[in-house]
Amino acid sequence: MIIPKGTSLTPEQLEEVVRIVEEFGCRIQPIIGATRSVYAIVGDERSETMQARIEGLPYIDRIDTLQSPYKLMDVRSDLANHVIRIGGVEVRKELLVIARPCTVDPKNPSLFIESAHAIKEAGANVLRGGVWKPRTNPYSFQGDDKSLEILLEASRQTGLPVNTEVMDEEQLRLALDAGVPMIQIGTRNALNYSLLRQVGAAIHGRDTVVLLKRGRHMGPIDEFICAAEYIVHFGNPNVMLCPRGTTPGLEGYRNHPDESITPLLKERTWAPVIVDPSHAVGKSTYVEACSLAAIVYGADGLCIEAHIDPSRGIGDDPKQAVTPRTLDRIIRRARQLWALRDSPDSERG
Ligand code: PEP
Ligand code: MN
Repeated sequence: MIIPKGTSLTPEQLEEVVRIVEEFGCRIQPIIGATRSVYAIVGDERSETMQARIEGLPYIDRIDTLQSPYKLMDVRSDLANHVIRIGGVEVRKELLVIARPCTVDPKNPSLFIESAHAIKEAGANVLRGGVWKPRTNPYSFQGDDKSLEILLEASRQTGLPVNTEVMDEEQLRLALDAGVPMIQIGTRNALNYSLLRQVGAAIHGRDTVVLLKRGRHMGPIDEFICAAEYIVHFGNPNVMLCPRGTTPGLEGYRNHPDESITPLLKERTWAPVIVDPSHAVGKSTYVEACSLAAIVYGADGLCIEAHIDPSRGIGDDPKQAVTPRTLDRIIRRARQLWALRDSPDSERG
């Protein structure tokens, strides 16, 4: 829908607009109002070049488009009933809990393996482990290829599928070749379109699931969904969206917790929403409240940092990892809230 700055377009202006849209296979249907007129674009209105050319005209205020820019991720797309299965869970039908220490410590494999067993005991469905770490400080521990073997050993011992973050094509290849079933794209690469395309191409024809974190700079909701579209349009629709807090942070928290965007995401896309409360609040004592809030907002799952002894962990663990005991309580309460949320008594509308 084209909205002019004035009350209507002059015949010359209308002619110019018609000429532009016809180049893109569309036509214009004027809607003449009592005080203002608007102009509907009939046809596929998604061409960004067409939109930019019209919005660039000095007498045009803006264009409001009805068609979504993400045709596969759209809640009305044919993929809306797509079911992602991982860790024995049918995502969106049952709560999915992904948990793990932030970083696999290659010098201390038993800490990771013991944490993995305790995390399974607590009721998590997927085990995460940071093999390669995106660190702000170039002198901080950056991860280690050797940690991949520790992660896989933890998976063999616990029977839990694993997830790890990749930041480039080489790490992606190593993870996929090793049989890692869930790939994480972290907040720093959430808008790295070449990497998103490489991930989409690499997982095509496999069952691999991608956990896509939200870019940390508070981008619009559609930017987040479009990033997922980059992956899905290669053919594998197993993508889950993970709000994890944005910057600038809320004073006292590491980031600005954004579990509240869940209903907005759910209105626009069918993709499961898995909230990461740990990076959102950044402190273990706040993780439970943020997790439970996420469930109330309608999240399909949680991605929580947990460690058997947080003070001995590396990366974010000493600050934000919860103990297996807290994880167990969070999972039990989250399931109770889930049941309450989805009970026939709960009124929607
Ligand atoms: C992580 O999960 O440890 C991590 C680095 O996540 P994010 O990309 O959300 O910062
Ligand atoms: Mn972390």
